[in-house]
Amino acid sequence: MSEFNSDIAIARAATKKPIKEIAARLGMSEEDIVPYGHDKAKISAPFLNSLESRPDGKLILVTAVNPTPAGEGKTTTTVGLGDGLNRIGKNALICIREASLGPCFGVKGGAAGGGYAQVVPMEDMNLHFTGDFHAITTAHNLLSAMIDNHIYWGNELQIDSRRVTWRRVLDMNDRALRQITASLGGVANGFPRETGFDITVASEVMAILCLSNDLKDLEKRLGDIIVAYRRDKTPVTARDLKADGAMAVLLKDAIQPNLVQTLENNPAFVHGGPFANIAHGCNSVVATKAALKLADYVVTEAGFGADLGAEKFFDIKCRKAGLKPAAAVVVATVRAMKMNGGVAKADLGAENVEAVKAGCANLGRHVENVKGFGVPVVVAINHFSADTEAEIAAVKDYVATLGAEAIVCRHWAEGSAGITGLAEKVVELADGGTADFQPIYPDEMGLFEKIETVVKKIYRGAEVTADQSVRDQLSAWQEAGYGNLPVCMAKTQYSFSTDPTKRGAPADFSVHVREVRLSAGAGFVVAICGQIMTMPGLPSQPAAESIYLNDNGEIEGLF
Ligand code: ADP
Ligand code: MG
Repeated sequence: MSEFNSDIAIARAATKKPIKEIAARLGMSEEDIVPYGHDKAKISAPFLNSLESRPDGKLILVTAVNPTPAGEGKTTTTVGLGDGLNRIGKNALICIREASLGPCFGVKGGAAGGGYAQVVPMEDMNLHFTGDFHAITTAHNLLSAMIDNHIYWGNELQIDSRRVTWRRVLDMNDRALRQITASLGGVANGFPRETGFDITVASEVMAILCLSNDLKDLEKRLGDIIVAYRRDKTPVTARDLKADGAMAVLLKDAIQPNLVQTLENNPAFVHGGPFANIAHGCNSVVATKAALKLADYVVTEAGFGADLGAEKFFDIKCRKAGLKPAAAVVVATVRAMKMNGGVAKADLGAENVEAVKAGCANLGRHVENVKGFGVPVVVAINHFSADTEAEIAAVKDYVATLGAEAIVCRHWAEGSAGITGLAEKVVELADGGTADFQPIYPDEMGLFEKIETVVKKIYRGAEVTADQSVRDQLSAWQEAGYGNLPVCMAKTQYSFSTDPTKRGAPADFSVHVREVRLSAGAGFVVAICGQIMTMPGLPSQPAAESIYLNDNGEIEGLF
């Protein structure tokens, strides 16, 4: 029996305030929110529109070292820091992503934070929540249905059915659907063709919802989606199929941010959740922009380590939405440093200062990279109970040599009381006015050169290799007017390189771009380096086997 309470036990014991009280703290009246029960609400569109002329608060990014199976706690730290800032008297708001249903039933691990730094209701947030993912799934599949329907009724647009790139989506881990043959069963069912399913968070509609500034922008981007090509390889868009209007209708509520609260009754926006590999992995622009109008400090998270998450947050989200982050927190753990230093997961319990020191090279490179975007950095050591004083000192000493500070945070065990030190430092950095954010490459740079820039400057690879067909495809998009888009790198999250076993700070490797995809609606070109799964499977013992309702009708086994 563990000496700690489970996340769900802590969350269930929370004393939640009515959501209208949380909204009132942000200056919203009852008309400004659309409640979903008593503990969740969407922010109304008229209220969001009324915020335009207000000044912006300061944006703080929480990112991390390369993830290890030991767990880093970015969301936990994002929520903890929001509570910590409120505790020291600041008006702070948290912005995080919504959870995908599939992984909930696969490998344990929620999206609401952990310990005493969580948003609630965590069960809802990890399950159906306010239905946004349902709306995204439906909008995506409406477009899929309209493509096959168009071909069925004569194919006026001359879609080459072998070149339909738009698949179907489902919010479930289901490897059986990765590759399917559709329209079997005879003339009445259309023309058989190969296709497949991706998980909803991998849908371009998700990325679009998260990058749109408003409903009009959303509708335009939906229209720009390329769904297929003709025999002459010219693109067919969702607008050509007249699907954009109805898709926007399905998404009209989903684009409004969701308001919930932390265990300490501080406000949090939880909105959108794009994949962090083939998409950009951050909560919606609508939520972040609204939060900046409503709070003095907005704490937000980017998926995976800083090589993927922060890079895309800066080069895609901030660039496109015109956001200027004021400070960044790089989350590190002693355990992750040990694993980056070569220790196996089973041996994490034993003190190993030398391994911590060796693993710090990973942290150091992320700190340097984030600084390279012109954003001041502080390191948060997310404290785990088995960490020793000597191991913590090793991380602190190392970070000091980088000209930065590492601060021990105990928010998981203590809530906001355990993270005031980090909160004070973040305020100092954000208010210091030293941030001078700029993306790492200009819009005008060629697509292949953009990929090279990220590989060389962020990953520290020596070269990018790609087949001629990939290079030709990039040139073709360049000519067709897509050359000014940012690139969205899809590679393993476990290493700076494309080899997940190369922890620490590998250098001088080569990165092979296997495939490129154009997300014309979302507005980026995806460079796929290595095997990237867009429809996960369930593990041999899925978490679903131990999830059930107890005699009180409460959910058990959710984490
Ligand atoms: P990330 O956002 O980086 O994926 P999370 O914040 O979601 O990570 O945390 C992953 C898991 O690790 C959660 O179940 C959380 O409860 C646990 N966790 C986070 N920080 C700690 C800590 N300091 N001690 C123990 N468990 C932690
Ligand atoms: Mg997270």
